[in-house]
Amino acid sequence: MLNPNVRVRFAPSPTGGLHLGGVRTVLFNYLFAKKHNGTFILRIEDTDQNRYVEGAEEYIIECLKWCGLNADESPVVGGPFAPYRQSERKALYREYAEKLVMHGHAYYAFDTPEELEQKRKDVPNFQYGMAHRNEMRNSLSLPEHEVDQLLDAGTPHVIRIKMPEDETISFNDMIRGYVSFDTNTVDDKVLLKADGMPTYHLAVVVDDFLMQISHAFRGEEWLPSAPVHMLLWEYLGWKDSMPQWAHLPLILKPDGHGKLSKRDGARLGFPVYAMTWDDAKSGEQTEGFREIGFLPEAFINLLAMLGWNDGTDQEIFSLDELVEKFSMERISKAGAKFDFEKAKWYNAEWIKKLDAERLIKETKAVLTAKGVTVTDNSYLQTVTELVKDRLVLLTDIYEHAWYFFKQPDEYDLNSVKPKWNEAKTEFFQTLITQLQQTADWNAVDLENSFKVLLTEKGLKPGDAMLPFRIMLVGGKFGPHVFDIAAALGKDEVIARIEKGLTAFTA
Ligand code: GLU
Repeated sequence: MLNPNVRVRFAPSPTGGLHLGGVRTVLFNYLFAKKHNGTFILRIEDTDQNRYVEGAEEYIIECLKWCGLNADESPVVGGPFAPYRQSERKALYREYAEKLVMHGHAYYAFDTPEELEQKRKDVPNFQYGMAHRNEMRNSLSLPEHEVDQLLDAGTPHVIRIKMPEDETISFNDMIRGYVSFDTNTVDDKVLLKADGMPTYHLAVVVDDFLMQISHAFRGEEWLPSAPVHMLLWEYLGWKDSMPQWAHLPLILKPDGHGKLSKRDGARLGFPVYAMTWDDAKSGEQTEGFREIGFLPEAFINLLAMLGWNDGTDQEIFSLDELVEKFSMERISKAGAKFDFEKAKWYNAEWIKKLDAERLIKETKAVLTAKGVTVTDNSYLQTVTELVKDRLVLLTDIYEHAWYFFKQPDEYDLNSVKPKWNEAKTEFFQTLITQLQQTADWNAVDLENSFKVLLTEKGLKPGDAMLPFRIMLVGGKFGPHVFDIAAALGKDEVIARIEKGLTAFTA
């Protein structure tokens, strides 16, 4: 049964690619919701038209889908509190901003961008707040009749919160415990912009209330905004409905110094975004975990372990297991260092664990993109079984398995030619005849008959095993050579021995 007391939301602004910290926020929201039979909501916070980037919302939705963290209510699936896109809710925010003005908790500000600019030049570290609001043009500093005139004339204005003086705002964060702020350090944030759009601060509070959000989990970078939000909950008379807050610890650079940024990824050679992001505004492309060959299972698993554990040494968790074991109490307060080598370890482990059907689907996509045509899924299954222990990224499949799909064009001749002799040529010629007559084509029988023939010809395994491998794959790599031969099939093996003999004896 659905638990109406647990409603959580992920509330991204569609301004670009989704940072792995963002996906971890989604994950923790999702896990908490599912653990408590609650509802997970996706709300698009697109009120800042200047930062809006074409395609970002679709990207976020696709990302959630790839990770298997689909929302129960969203702009896509709808829900009882629709619309879930703030730009479509524009009309409802003004009423709340006006209510705040009426009760003296907010005020109209008529300052033009030029006036604000000038003030910032004149006053170092200018903050629009207690210290300076009386020097500005607003409904607190101007006489009432002038304010009325300006409003009647339709003068462009914003609505700002009036931060109280000398107050301490505190709340109990589910991760960080008791947190408090001095109101004197916080500026009078804009709540409603001149174009009638709410800012994030107003919209997030109004929507968390209207959508009956019970728990609000977000990145630690939002902590400085918390006092403004607390005040709005109080001033709008909704304090009793306020969600429980949790500010999730940051994901740090590998050296632990500061928040992991998109630039760190580029500098250190690993992705920071979940999926490749093509920025319509800048034209820039940023590579994602998905595209370089991460499995969603591994991506989710490694994100969960950035700042959480179940109290044991267990590191590999499926999404179902995470839902079962997740608890907010076990999220650490400290930031978690991102370690790309460890991230790859998770992926390699998940590739080993993956069921055949998924592995075929994933590797087929990579091979197809590399121009390899896979027609027979059971053949691909045999191949992936042979090489999957060697894969760290799904994209490694090509490097480890291309020779199952085409004959080598080049051979490591240095490893065979200097020691080649007539006896070896004869061995392989006899081997061809022997293979042509083989009825049971399997690795064990192939190996046995190969070894019997070696003895008959007075050769040592070392004389023929490596040349055989090089004939089949071109070099000194790959799994057990008789497994390769078994997979390739009789005709192909014979063809490769013939081609190899020609190359080795030329
Ligand atoms: N729209 C904010 C963001 O882009 C949401 C912050 C919050 O969850 O309150 O991350």
